Amino acid sequence: MALIDRYGRKHDYLRVSVTDRCNLRCIYCMGPDGVKQIPHDQILTYEEILEVITAAAALGVTRVRFTGGEPLVRQELLHLVEKSSRIPGIAELTMSTNGILLPKFAGPLKKAGLQRVNISLDSLKPDLYRKITRGGDLNLVLAGIGAALEADLKPVKVNIVLMKGINHLEVPDFLALALEKELHLRFIEYMPIGAQGSKLQEYYLPLSYVQETAARMGLPLTPAESPAGAGPAESFNLPGGKGTIGLIHPISRHFCGTCNRLRLTAEGFLKCCLYWQQEYSVRPALGDAAALQELLRKVVRLKPEKHLMSTVEDAGAVNPRAMRGMSRTGG
Ligand code: SAM
Ligand code: SF4
Repeated sequence: MALIDRYGRKHDYLRVSVTDRCNLRCIYCMGPDGVKQIPHDQILTYEEILEVITAAAALGVTRVRFTGGEPLVRQELLHLVEKSSRIPGIAELTMSTNGILLPKFAGPLKKAGLQRVNISLDSLKPDLYRKITRGGDLNLVLAGIGAALEADLKPVKVNIVLMKGINHLEVPDFLALALEKELHLRFIEYMPIGAQGSKLQEYYLPLSYVQETAARMGLPLTPAESPAGAGPAESFNLPGGKGTIGLIHPISRHFCGTCNRLRLTAEGFLKCCLYWQQEYSVRPALGDAAALQELLRKVVRLKPEKHLMSTVEDAGAVNPRAMRGMSRTGG
């Protein structure tokens, strides 16, 4: 039986956070000291994660994305990818990563059954990249992107959180990158989420800014067919470009009407919406496939129609439903 909610949305996509830990500290995601780490014994084991994926697959989930924190900092991740790829019904395995460890892992991930990666890259300037990520080395991510292309983890998508006064003047450089390389560059509106949510008034910039900048450069964006797994992104071609552009507007144009996602946090909570406080522990149902399936059905049944971040005004209000930060939910 498929996972269909009260509003007719079919859920076939599970995002699995494998860790809350990270080797970076991006300013929009965490504070300078990172997040309070969850002790190892409170993190789901790979066997437990596989159990949840198997139950979800039995209910029609076909796509799984590994995320975090930074998924590649968890030991033996290849083991989880490889075992997930053998679960009947799972047709697509992808990962969101900051790319720092991809030079080492891109090839082995592909071999283990991963199809694609999304890589976060918010600046092409080494100093600004270091400032945004609080210490990251741009060269490592660029090498990671190269390794992903070489390993055929395609289409390689690059996520850019656009922040007013931080990286918005780099839009022309990112557009130039999409002209030159076979990458799908996705600009994401800054979301007021977790402890970093208070920066909304300072950082928020609607993505119409990207379209206006492209038009000013004589590169008007034209609507394109979305690449595999584009989800809520609107896709565009860039005249003469090898790459494409995606715009993800969680705030100025919310996309809840077509949401097909469920999330599993590293500690084992199922969430039906990134921006919703309710979460349900899988632990009492582990070891019992029928109970896990019933829990998945319940979470989908209770899914709200839309998140409360649907306008800039709503998002600016203190919103207790979004206090679990992105790195602790799995962005
Ligand atoms: N560490 C991996 C990475 O950076 O891609 C995966 C986890 S990260 C939480 C997943 C995505 O969430 C990234 O693309 C990141 O840019 C995005 N993200 C985190 N905080 C955000 C915020 N406040 N607004 C918009 N996007 C955010
Ligand atoms: Fe780490 Fe990703 Fe959050 Fe940056 S966005 S701090 S890389 S989890």
